[in-house]
Amino acid sequence: MSDKPLTGRARADRQPHSLAAWRGLGGYAALSLALKRHSPEAIIAMVEAAGLRGRGGAGFPTANKWRFMRTGSEKAGPGARYLCVNGDETEPGSFKDRLLMEALPHQLIEGATIAAYAIGATEVIILVRDEYRAATAALSRAIAEAEASGLLGRDILGSGFDLTMRVHASAGRYIVGEETALIAAIEGERPVPRHRPPYPAVSGLWGRPTTVNNVETLSSVPSIIENGADWYRSLSFTDEGGTKLYGVSGCVERPQLIEAPMGSTARELLHRAGGIRNGRALLAFQPGGGATAFFEKAELDVPLDFTSTKKAGSSLGTGALIVLDDRACPVAAIGRHMRFYARESCGLCTPCRDGLPWVSKLLDTLEAGKGTRGDIEVLHQHVALSGPSGRSYCDLNTGALTPLRSGLERFGDIFTAHLQGFCPVGRP
Ligand code: NAD
Repeated sequence: MSDKPLTGRARADRQPHSLAAWRGLGGYAALSLALKRHSPEAIIAMVEAAGLRGRGGAGFPTANKWRFMRTGSEKAGPGARYLCVNGDETEPGSFKDRLLMEALPHQLIEGATIAAYAIGATEVIILVRDEYRAATAALSRAIAEAEASGLLGRDILGSGFDLTMRVHASAGRYIVGEETALIAAIEGERPVPRHRPPYPAVSGLWGRPTTVNNVETLSSVPSIIENGADWYRSLSFTDEGGTKLYGVSGCVERPQLIEAPMGSTARELLHRAGGIRNGRALLAFQPGGGATAFFEKAELDVPLDFTSTKKAGSSLGTGALIVLDDRACPVAAIGRHMRFYARESCGLCTPCRDGLPWVSKLLDTLEAGKGTRGDIEVLHQHVALSGPSGRSYCDLNTGALTPLRSGLERFGDIFTAHLQGFCPVGRP
C-alpha cells in the first residue's frame, strides 16, 4: 500500500469540524488564494491540469463541465446561475459523501465556493439525501458560521464576489441523484429526469445555467488550489489525478472507507479491510456500487480508476467495492439490488415501472428454489432489452440491470443450479 500523503487536512472523526478547528488546520486559505490571486479561468485550468474527474460515478472531467457552464452563461445573458451540490448519495454500497458532509462540512463549503467563483454561480444549493439528517445539520451549522465570518454572503473576504449557499433536504428516493431529477426536486417538482440536451449548463434550475457537482469532487478542490495541480496529480498511481475515497463493504472483516491513491487495486483495498470475512475465499466484487458489473479474482489487480476499470469490463462508479465470499449467493445479492432499484425508480417509463419489479420477483422465485428454465430465459430477455438503446428515459434501468447482465454471464451455472429446488450456495 502507498505511503503517499493524502488530500485530507484532517482525519475525519465523528464530530463535525467547527470553523475554528477547520481554520486551525489551514482551512479557507485556498479560498483566500483563489479569490485574491487567481482568475476564474486560471482556477479551471488548474483543475484541468490536476486531472480531476467527477466522483459521483460518471467520471466526467470537472474542468470541461465548468467550461460548459461559462459557455452556457454567455448564451443565457445576465441573471442567476447555480451550482447544485449532489449530496443525494444513495448508490448501494456508497457512503463516502456522508462522511465528508458530516465530518468535514467546511471543506465542502470551501470547495463549493471556489467552484462557484470559477463558474460564475450566484447561489449554491446543497441537496442532501433524506436519511442523512446529521449531514444536513452539520452543513446548516457550518454555513451559518461561514456567513457570520464573511466567508459567504456579500463581498467575500473583500474580493467583491457575492455568494449565497443553502441546504435543501431531499424528500427521498434514489432517482433524485440523477442531475435533472435533482433539479426538478429543488424546484419543488416530482423528481422525474428531464431530457438532455439541453444540459443543465445551458438550461438547469429554473431554466438558468446550472452545474451539478458531487460532494467528493468539490471537497477535492481546496487542496488542489492550495498545493497545485502537479501535487494533486502526483498522488495518483495512474494518469487520473489525485486520491479516491473507496468504500469497502460486504463479506470483509472490517468494512470501511479508505482514502487511497486513484488507481489502487482491489487486492490492496481488501487487505486494508482485513481480508475476506472468517478467512473465506473471494467469489466476486462490484468495484463501483450496486449498478456495476462483477469482477472476480482475475481482476483483483486492475487499477481502480475510471479508464482501467472500464477497459476491464466494469466501471469505477462511486468506488464502492461490494464484496461477496464463496458462501454468498450471487442470485440473492443481485435480487437485493433489484428490489432496491425497482422501489427507487421514478416510475415514468415501462422498463423501470413494470420491468424491474418483474425481474425482482423472478430473482426471488429462483433464489427460493421455485424458478423454472423459462424464468431464466425471461431474465435474459430483460437484459437484452436494456442498454443504451433509448428504450428507457434515463440510465437507471441500464444500471439496475448491469449486475444481472454480469451475473448471468459470470455465474450462469449458479443460476441454473437453483432449478434443483434450493439455493446451492447458501445465504450470505
Ligand atoms: P453523464 O456521463 O451523462 O454526464 C456526466 C456529467 O457531465 C453531467 O453532469 C452532464 O450534465 C455533463 N455533461 C456531459 N456531456 C455534456 C455536454 N455535452 N454538455 C454539457 N454537460 C455535459 O452521466 P450522468 O447520467 O450524469 O451520471 C451517471 C452516473 O451517476 C453513473 O455512472 C452512476 O455511477 C452514477 N450514479 C451515482 C449515484 C450516487 O449515489 N453517487 C447514484 C446513481 C448513479
